[in-house]
Amino acid sequence: MDNALVVYRLSAGCDLGEVVEGKTYAGKVQGFANFGMFVQLNDRIKGLVHKTNIKNEHNEKDPVLVRVNTIRNNGNLDLEEIIATDYTIESVQKRSHAVQLSDLGEKIGKTVQIEGEVAQVKQTSGPTIFTIVDATGTENAAAFIEAGVRAYPEAEVGHLVRIVGEVMQRNRDLQIEVDSLIVLTGDEASEVKERIERSLEIRAEPVEVPLLIESEVLRKLRPEMMKVARIIRKAVFTAQPIILRHHADADGICSAIALEIAITSLIRESGGDFDSEYFLYKRSPSKAPFYEIEDITRDLDFALKDHARFGQKLPLILLTDNGSTEEDLPSLKVAEIYELPIVVIDHHHPDAIVDQYLKAHVNPYHVGGDFGITAGMLGTEVARLVNPKISSLIEHLPAVAGVADRSEAKERTLYLELVEEIYSEDHCRDIALALDYEQFWLRFNDGREIVKEMLGITGTPDRHNRIISLLVEEANHAIEDQMNASMPHLRDQELSNGALLFLLDVEIHAHKFTFPPPGKTSGEVHDRLCRNNPGKSIVTIGFGPDFAVLRSRGVLMNIPKMVRELRDEIPGGGISGGGHLVVGSIKFVEGMREEVLRGLVKKIAYADIG
Ligand code: MN
Repeated sequence: MDNALVVYRLSAGCDLGEVVEGKTYAGKVQGFANFGMFVQLNDRIKGLVHKTNIKNEHNEKDPVLVRVNTIRNNGNLDLEEIIATDYTIESVQKRSHAVQLSDLGEKIGKTVQIEGEVAQVKQTSGPTIFTIVDATGTENAAAFIEAGVRAYPEAEVGHLVRIVGEVMQRNRDLQIEVDSLIVLTGDEASEVKERIERSLEIRAEPVEVPLLIESEVLRKLRPEMMKVARIIRKAVFTAQPIILRHHADADGICSAIALEIAITSLIRESGGDFDSEYFLYKRSPSKAPFYEIEDITRDLDFALKDHARFGQKLPLILLTDNGSTEEDLPSLKVAEIYELPIVVIDHHHPDAIVDQYLKAHVNPYHVGGDFGITAGMLGTEVARLVNPKISSLIEHLPAVAGVADRSEAKERTLYLELVEEIYSEDHCRDIALALDYEQFWLRFNDGREIVKEMLGITGTPDRHNRIISLLVEEANHAIEDQMNASMPHLRDQELSNGALLFLLDVEIHAHKFTFPPPGKTSGEVHDRLCRNNPGKSIVTIGFGPDFAVLRSRGVLMNIPKMVRELRDEIPGGGISGGGHLVVGSIKFVEGMREEVLRGLVKKIAYADIG
């Protein structure tokens, strides 16, 4: 048994690089010619056994052992049949000659081999487009069988594949024209998967850039911000779609735009094509300051359709300026069933129960801060970790957000100082008002490009200034109209705790379906009342048939808590709502309005004055 013959078996994917002269291989008869027979060593390698080197009679597809006598310069193999009964078999794995996706730019016009994971399969009316992710980036590979026919139907999302093809430049994007595609199995697949995952962990690790300002709360939030940034980066690098949901006000918009710039730039940098900024990333404003069931229903509808139609992965859901309260629970539970990962960047007073549904949650209340650290500040700092290169584009967004949400935290001042040479406090206030005004007309649309111009990120400074001042003029005009109509109808009373309470029926004493909507109308009324009553504690309630919005100054209320108590105390009130501690809203059934408002006022009268 000594010196038993070793016969090598080339696994799929091996090519000439793995073939060695003088060694014996297991092959299969492919066909016959006058001068000999052709033997396949695997799917892509075959050679010729000259008739003088054939030892036995064969049929097509017979297994046969052959020694490689010569590998010619043109790649042809001269084989010789070997007869042996006593031998051991060793399988030959493909040595990786794979080119990394990040290097494809230097290989235009060349045929390369790549290895990676299928992240998406999209059937076009022409070729089938496979989105491939490897350790270094993402690229598309186009495979064509026949117009509109799915090529390589065996290759599905999540499979590890080896592709050979030519690198082409298509418009602005690189693409590989597939010559061959093999789904990897067994050790080969796990080896490639491990390689990708190992380097993904490293790539996804955010670069720790210093915070824009000195802040103890933000410093304590840093580890959780890093965690969120890591999750976002990993989603981008694995071509997982991202849905960004945000409260549809100026603060929410600032946070969302900062994150949007970071995410879309990272998609571009990692090799995603121009389109992938649109189909791998979507932003939607939410009317309520929480993730409503209506919102998740729409998101899930699109996600499942994209999954079915385009073979997309299910998305990562990113919530900002919402997502941290009990009101979010129904949606979070829906997401859990579909295993949609959710991360939250919020400054609403959080309810601990949400955290079991979240992958990560940045919230100043977790570290002793409060809503004065607004979503726009948090979102911007996270965005800078996601992609530090875009930092200078978004450094003014926290200042706009702080002014928009009337932050009284010292961080607001620091963020304003950071950009005061370009963005004065007044200009930030104008931008915030213009954003609120424009979002009202955008309704459920994200206004992706308009909003970036309004925030001075794209477009020219001249056009930015002109559009902002026009919108501010229009918004102020509309607010003035509304105030003239509603202020004379205020009902006021002094509560037992000394606070002044003002009530306004916005249903009958304010214009409807126009700017400013009821919440903002009540806010404006409240601001005027505060100016007219310096030093007084003031609560303003604007109510409609089935809702009330609250604003307060100098009264230590906890609106989410009041809402929960009223829900227990007034059966049949149909009560829900929430918001911040001192700014919020409550919903109820129309027939119970008087009782609910009475109960609410009673609670406010018991609140401490501070
Ligand atoms: Mn906010």
